[in-house]
Amino acid sequence: TYDLTGKRVFVAGHRGMVGSAVVRRLASENCTVLTADRREVDLTKEEPTLKWLEANRPEVVVHAAAKVGGIAANNNFPVDFLCDNLALELSVIRASHAVGVQRLLFLGSSCIYPKHAKQPMAESELLTGPLEPTNEWYAIAKIAGLKMCQAYRRQYGDDFISAMPTNLYGRGDNYHPDHSHVPAALIRRFHEAKLAKAPTVTVWGTGTPLREFLSVEDFADACVFLLKNYSSDLPINVGSGDEVSIADFAAAVADVVGYEGKLIFDTSKPDGTPRKLLDSSRLRALGWRATTSLRAGLASAYDDFLQGHGRHLE
Ligand code: GDP
Repeated sequence: TYDLTGKRVFVAGHRGMVGSAVVRRLASENCTVLTADRREVDLTKEEPTLKWLEANRPEVVVHAAAKVGGIAANNNFPVDFLCDNLALELSVIRASHAVGVQRLLFLGSSCIYPKHAKQPMAESELLTGPLEPTNEWYAIAKIAGLKMCQAYRRQYGDDFISAMPTNLYGRGDNYHPDHSHVPAALIRRFHEAKLAKAPTVTVWGTGTPLREFLSVEDFADACVFLLKNYSSDLPINVGSGDEVSIADFAAAVADVVGYEGKLIFDTSKPDGTPRKLLDSSRLRALGWRATTSLRAGLASAYDDFLQGHGRHLE
């Protein structure tokens, strides 16, 4: 196991949903958390990133800096999703190697697995088939990132690991009306419909796709667990094991928000991949599991939304 006590831990992307949750979680570890303000250093640029790491000398890096978004954002901004994420990976991972970082945790996504991967998706499904076209730009960048970690381990023996979270939700999510993921999109839409006393709310797609959701607080806990307990060139899945249809998920959000109208499914909007459940048995075998139920997680996400903790809430 790796001891975080007294270590300097740099969380790249500390303003994002995942990065901010990792920072909150690290507060209960005996370590020093380092963050870099966007105005201080542009992490897509190699030179300033290297300079910043040289000046701040972290022993541990959590790479949570990424351009992220839902199914529509991926479709509309392929260059941003591919190139910004590759640029972030190149500069943060290379610079981490250059300054001798001991442990680096790279964060990917379950969308790295093929569209028709065997479900639940084990880590071994990686690169066994074509990707889901609605998010392949992001997926290719994330696959490159985990390959970079494997390459640094192979060529230099660097202890760089990769974790692949399932669909995350919770505090600090992005509530952009068009570019959010389904949890934030529906929390906002149902909330606004409740206030407006609207008789119906539109949910994208058929409602039949199956998704697994994990609270970002649970994910941050898994990240710390992995930093301490996982050292391998194999990426590791992080899921809750709870699978739900989009229709049932939407009903749960409506319930938590207190919206009592009718749900309408807009089948002109894309469904995305039909099923996305991770096989997290490798992580479970190490002794970690999620502790937040979808109900409790959604209730706390809605609470945070009401308190204005998300982005794009103006
Ligand atoms: P995905 O898991 O990569 O497909 O990402 P999303 O979170 O964007 O979408 C998950 C599923 O929720 C897809 O089947 C969407 O069609 C469905 N969905 C239903 N309503 C919405 C919505 O308002 N926004 C988004 N992003 N997805 C929605």
